[in-house]
Amino acid sequence: MGNINWNIPKIDAHVHFNYERVALLNYGAKNNIKYLSINTDIPFFKPLEDQEKTILKLKYAVGNQLHYVASFPMANWGSLNWESDVLSILKKSFSNGAIGVKVWKNIGMEVTDLDENYIGLDHHSFDSIFNYLEENDLVVLGHNGEPKNCWLPIEKMTVEQDRAYFKEHPEYHMYLHPEMPAYKDHLEARNRRLEKHPKLRFVGLHLASHEWNVDKIGDFLDKFPLAAVDLAERICHLQHQCKTDWQKVYNFFLKYQDRIIYGTDVIDDGSLSDKELIETMEAKYQMHWRFFTTKDTMSAPKVTGVFNGLKLPDEVIKKVYFENAMKWYKLPQ
Ligand SMILES: [Zn+2]
Repeated sequence: MGNINWNIPKIDAHVHFNYERVALLNYGAKNNIKYLSINTDIPFFKPLEDQEKTILKLKYAVGNQLHYVASFPMANWGSLNWESDVLSILKKSFSNGAIGVKVWKNIGMEVTDLDENYIGLDHHSFDSIFNYLEENDLVVLGHNGEPKNCWLPIEKMTVEQDRAYFKEHPEYHMYLHPEMPAYKDHLEARNRRLEKHPKLRFVGLHLASHEWNVDKIGDFLDKFPLAAVDLAERICHLQHQCKTDWQKVYNFFLKYQDRIIYGTDVIDDGSLSDKELIETMEAKYQMHWRFFTTKDTMSAPKVTGVFNGLKLPDEVIKKVYFENAMKWYKLPQ
């Protein structure tokens, strides 16, 4: 099995550092790994203001080894000054060094208007915000919708990862909420928003919620030339597809090698000890590395059955693990 080549620079471009400690950053500094932490308006995360404070302290300690993405609260959505309040929150974050903005699935799955309709990313209340981001060349990171499995009963889901998450979060398990927007509604709302902003740089997090079929991810990337995708918490879906169509997944990586960004989606909320955190992440990094760089027959905790690694060419590995994130997110070295 291939051990990680630590000489190749890497960036784990999807982490959530919600806790003030440098354990993983120190591990990364030793091993040539940078981090991109993504602030998110999630009810079980601490408030965005506190997330930002934590990140700024960590950034102060480690400089350009850590970058971050800001977000904005949906709590007062619909109030009179909401759009201008959001703009001032974001401008402050950009002056603090945030490199872009994340939008989360609460847009589409949580916030409703006065008629109790769910509002999507194409809602006009976001127009001035997106115009500002487009005009100022600020990248948007979108977690829109969910894996397609979210609309299936637990026993029909394709990967253990999703079975575990939706068992724990029935509020987001859309199979249980047929009255709410459908899978395609979220993606169409996102696409309508992107169509309105042809100069906007966009990264579709979690394989842009097209994780179940690499052809669909390709269609999305073909449609939006300024878009890229990240792999966070969806590598298991690619491993699942490798079981039946290895070549198709391999071809996808070759064809879109400039537009795929590595990230793990680790949440450091302080629940693990330093040692546990490092061990968990080291095991994850090794497993991913083995999948991408060898042709070993392997298994993964979140996938049923065995699959073969992709053994991608070195140039592709360098792009996926580092160069693509640096370029799409325009990160200072
Ligand atoms: Zn995440």
